[in-house]
Amino acid sequence: MPTYKARLDSKLPHAGTSIFAVMSKLAHENGAINLSQGYPDFPTSPRLIELVHDAMKKGYNQYAPMPGIFSLREAIAEKIERLYGTRYDPDTEITITAGATQAIFTAIAAVIQKNDEVILFAPAYDSYAPSIEANGGIPVEIEMDLPAFTIDWQKVKKSISERTRMIIINTPHNPTGSVLTDQDMKQLVELTANSNIMILSDEVYEHMIYDGKRHNSVARYPDLADRSFLVASFGKTFHNTGWKMGYCAGPRELMDEFRKIHQFNVFSVNHPMQKAIATYLKDPENYEYLPGFFEAKRNLFLEALEGSRFSFLPSTGTYFQLLGYGKISEEGDMEIASRMTREHKVASIPVSAFYQNKTDNRILRFCFAKSEETLLRGAEILRTL
Ligand code: GLN
Repeated sequence: MPTYKARLDSKLPHAGTSIFAVMSKLAHENGAINLSQGYPDFPTSPRLIELVHDAMKKGYNQYAPMPGIFSLREAIAEKIERLYGTRYDPDTEITITAGATQAIFTAIAAVIQKNDEVILFAPAYDSYAPSIEANGGIPVEIEMDLPAFTIDWQKVKKSISERTRMIIINTPHNPTGSVLTDQDMKQLVELTANSNIMILSDEVYEHMIYDGKRHNSVARYPDLADRSFLVASFGKTFHNTGWKMGYCAGPRELMDEFRKIHQFNVFSVNHPMQKAIATYLKDPENYEYLPGFFEAKRNLFLEALEGSRFSFLPSTGTYFQLLGYGKISEEGDMEIASRMTREHKVASIPVSAFYQNKTDNRILRFCFAKSEETLLRGAEILRTL
């Protein structure tokens, strides 16, 4: 075994292994039902697989153009305009990425300089803070208010300083399932007007929104679209998280900088997948069913939990449901999540993992992007606790 002997200063001294990797591994080792990491346990569309296969057979097996194939960027521009009203130029304002994770890292790397402050809302998706820190920025975390995980815009106003360069929003929100309202977006417009603050808007769950609510993309608000990187993920929309396909849209000035990093980070992403998704995305039927489809799964899971000792507010977006276990145990959330996986064979995600200071509200996150059978078996166990 080689051993490194010279001095090594970690760029991320506090980062451990991602909680998703930890919990999925534990679930696997214990033969537990895995409601932890967010991915479907049902297949992606056979038609989409056929389209990838066709593209491979037709010879699309070499590098795709650096920003992505034009037909896919065009299909994305049309979809965003039809749904949210802003027209992005497919030539200069959209780039195809290796999932949303790469888009988020690239956007941050492109514009964040040493000691720039970036505001994020906790609980926050686990890649934001390390992406900021690895690029020399300073994460400024604002805790959302329980029980519904709402943002107190007065707190945001107070946290803005001379050095604030970016605000990261995520709607629908992982891990809480909350969504930003029109009022929230207007507050953001007001707070950022005439400032140098950019927005990174993580909208990977744009089609997973329930109870008749509307997705408030930054692309609905011209004053926000003008200063935002909009990030999305095909892995979430088309049930194929393993393909690692996504994109970033933004005004040309931001996208020019984004592509400077993108070209030396990945250069370009999967060519046959891009071909397939370009065709598949043109048919709105391939994603319009998603709110109903996932709302039914949420409802099934919650109905199956009736009579349990967990407490909950129904999730209004994403494919995650939070459950409070305060009436069941005094343990910390890391401890109970681990014990439930080992002893009761159901894996979840402890929400404290999404706070930099590990705030523990005794809440666990459960993924309901699962087959009916998996959800019912999981809920049956949870009812016994
Ligand atoms: N976004 C997924 C989740 O929240 C996991 C992604 C990952 O494992 N990095 O569970």
